[in-house]
Amino acid sequence: MSNVIITLFSAAGYDRAAQGVAGAGRRLADQLGAKLHAIVIGEHNPMLNTSLAAVADAVVSADQAELAEYQPEACLAALTELCKRISPAAVLLSNDTYSQELAPRLAHRLGGSAVGDGVSLAVEGGAIRVQRAVYGGKAMATIQLKRSPAVVWLRARAFEVPASVSSSVATVAATSVTIPAATTKIVERKSESTGEARLEDARIIVSGGRGLGGPEGFEGLKELATMLGGMNAASRAACDSGWCPPTWQVGQTGKKVAPGLYLAVAIRGASQHLAGMSDSKIVAAINIDADAPIFKHCSFGIVEDYKKVIPLLKEKLKDAERGA
Ligand SMILES: Cc1cc2nc3c(=O)[nH]c(=O)nc-3n(C[C@H](O)[C@H](O)[C@H](O)COP(=O)(O)OP(=O)(O)OC[C@H]3O[C@@H](n4cnc5c(N)ncnc54)[C@H](O)[C@@H]3O)c2cc1C
Repeated sequence: MSNVIITLFSAAGYDRAAQGVAGAGRRLADQLGAKLHAIVIGEHNPMLNTSLAAVADAVVSADQAELAEYQPEACLAALTELCKRISPAAVLLSNDTYSQELAPRLAHRLGGSAVGDGVSLAVEGGAIRVQRAVYGGKAMATIQLKRSPAVVWLRARAFEVPASVSSSVATVAATSVTIPAATTKIVERKSESTGEARLEDARIIVSGGRGLGGPEGFEGLKELATMLGGMNAASRAACDSGWCPPTWQVGQTGKKVAPGLYLAVAIRGASQHLAGMSDSKIVAAINIDADAPIFKHCSFGIVEDYKKVIPLLKEKLKDAERGA
């Protein structure tokens, strides 16, 4: 019998992205007639282990001290050893920056193939096929991975959570792995205070672009996002200009988001930006240029200077709150 592995980092917990990976893993294992193994890397996280034990056939937790904090070399060594023990047909990871960093290297070490940002998985004639967006989201490609295992990191929210939990709960085995002496040292970690929320899970996103003209343009967008109970994001041009944190970047080389509402303010709508937000349910845009490409991709558009529109929107929201 073949095996499918899902790999999760304990620090992220059993968030929506992790549940999507678990759901995708369960369905793929069932299609292949394979066993589903969950590998959890990092600090001991009983809640995550228990949640996975209800979905997977086996859960392995690698929580030794060297893995408590993310360190690519140590995590890669741990993952490689654990995957080799299980001998999988597929290894599924989340679409976080850790997984993106590790997946191609893991595939190389296992002699397999890697593909990123998968939005659907299928089995045809025993072979695993992965669908992903190409050309900035303008087309979909179906990729058949020739070398096994298929190491695939999955787009957040593209996969349903596990349909139902297994009647038999898997055992959680703690394991230790051989970690080579580190050749790199983490000198400093800077964490950004985003609270518990992740952009990928946001229901409402107010995003700003280069047309804001400077960091002060984001102040109004921050207030608007707070009033709407949403989060802020940005185009690469705005991030590269240093007007907002790089973690806000949405797009081909940034985060892939799928909120209920994505408000693009002074963002042109380049294909590389669209690649990160085209799964949004409703897109609204504010842009002074009526011919900006973003208007071809939105349900609502306002052709106007954002400096006029944002204060008006805030006023209207305040009126609505007051019941006016
Ligand atoms: C390999 C590669 C990867 C990339 N990855 C990404 C990515 O992940 N994410 C990403 O975003 N980009 C990415 N880019 C860059 C992308 O091609 C665009 O350059 C970028 O998205 C442009 O950002 P922007 O729309 O904010 O800026 P601009 O293209 O400068 O557009 C600014 C917009 O603001 C409007 N505007 C100006 N003033 C106002 C005003 N007062 N009120 C209202 N509207 C106004 C303008 O009409 C214009 O439409 C990538 C590029 C490459 C080559």
